[in-house]
Amino acid sequence: MPTRPRPRRYPARYSAFSLLRHGLAGDHLVPAWRDRELKNSYDVVIIGGGVHGLATAYYLAANHGITDVAVLDKGYVGSGGSGRNTAILRSNYLTPEGVRFYDRSVRLYERLAADLNYNVMFSQRGHLTLAHNDSSLRTMRWRAEVNKLEGVDSEVVGPAEIKKLVPYLDVSAAVRYPILGALYHPPGGIIRHDAVVWGYARGASGYGVHIHQNTEVTGIDVAGGPNGRRVRGVRTDRGDIAASTVINCTAGWSTLVAEMAGVRLPIQTFPLQAAVTEPVRPFLDAVVVSGSLHVYVSQTDRGELVFGASVDPFAGYSMRGSLEFVEGLAGHVLELMPSLAKVRLLRQWAGLCDMTPDFSPIMGRTPVDGFLVDVGWGTYGFKAGPVSGEAMADCVATGRTPDIIAPFGVERFAEGRLLGEKGAAAVGH
Ligand SMILES: Cc1cc2nc3c(=O)[nH]c(=O)nc-3n(C[C@H](O)[C@H](O)[C@H](O)COP(=O)(O)OP(=O)(O)OC[C@H]3O[C@@H](n4cnc5c(N)ncnc54)[C@H](O)[C@@H]3O)c2cc1C
Repeated sequence: MPTRPRPRRYPARYSAFSLLRHGLAGDHLVPAWRDRELKNSYDVVIIGGGVHGLATAYYLAANHGITDVAVLDKGYVGSGGSGRNTAILRSNYLTPEGVRFYDRSVRLYERLAADLNYNVMFSQRGHLTLAHNDSSLRTMRWRAEVNKLEGVDSEVVGPAEIKKLVPYLDVSAAVRYPILGALYHPPGGIIRHDAVVWGYARGASGYGVHIHQNTEVTGIDVAGGPNGRRVRGVRTDRGDIAASTVINCTAGWSTLVAEMAGVRLPIQTFPLQAAVTEPVRPFLDAVVVSGSLHVYVSQTDRGELVFGASVDPFAGYSMRGSLEFVEGLAGHVLELMPSLAKVRLLRQWAGLCDMTPDFSPIMGRTPVDGFLVDVGWGTYGFKAGPVSGEAMADCVATGRTPDIIAPFGVERFAEGRLLGEKGAAAVGH
């Protein structure tokens, strides 16, 4: 085991005088991470500079002292789902395996600002999943019981309690989709997604990890032998790189990258859209989700309302917003909060989601020795960044699959051990 490196120190804060001095001197822009020369060999190459790739690099260095690591991204850091998501964190899933996994992530997020010395603005404001009919109320009760058994704070609350938490919600019975109850999850909330990505990039770079933006992986070298296939490195548009470990953290592009190593994944890629309004006075504390209406809403610290929904109804790689999406979204939002009728939408966008058949991720080793995957994050993977990074780093450093990700291996599809999370993950967040 190499000795643990000391991270590079960054100034924790500026005083008014140092700000003035830096401002006048024109040297106030301190790059968050260093640009370095691309080497032709690394111990570990991570493909994808989103939260998963960067968190894996950070924990490899911080927890295991493995720093000969390169994170390669064909665009810029955070240009995939990690910079496009609606930043909702929660752990109130349906299966015990899922609840345990996401709970570990929420706990890591709770201390992330201190660990990275970077303000990630995690606001645990509570999360409500509304039930508009008996069958969804039953699923909420089921989730609440599984959550409690795993030590996660969740309970089913009725309309009066919901009204107290979100006074602007229409909880009357005289509406098309009456609210019968909700799953209330106090630890859930929102975070500043780009700060998380930059914080991990800065932390990893401080330990000596190389982050190479605008570096596209175009092929993966795999050697065949009597004992099976083994990864040798990657080919990029900037030259070949040798590596004995290559990790695929490319979310919406994960099948294309896995196929470069000859690994097929049971994943389909769908666009997911979201939209944001002009800022309005703060009135909404909790995150509100409606599975039946396929919509969710939260309010940022700046006052904007962030809306999301389910994936587009067709597979594809387009990242364009559509008018159909905005029309459907607006209708559903107004079913819940008619008082928002005059608020103006500011912008909409889309990202790519790699959906598995059981709405759970695919993590760990593959049939190609040294080629690992951390993919299948669908519409819900931002919240899993820290735990995935921690577990993938453990997997590389120890050569063993950590218990917390063992249920998510790719072999589960061949063995018929699916881990159905659709009841807790059908609406994208
Ligand atoms: C609109 C929207 C809302 C969402 N809301 C939430 C939410 O509220 N909560 C939540 O938990 N999740 C949410 N998600 C899902 C979440 O954004 C993703 O699951 C998560 O960001 C995936 O992170 P990642 O690091 O695995 O991948 P990404 O952040 O997508 O990073 C993958 C990177 O790989 C790079 N790449 C791809 N191919 C190559 C190649 N050949 N060579 C080099 N680099 C390559 C890409 O440029 C990209 O930067 C949402 C997603 C969207 C689109």
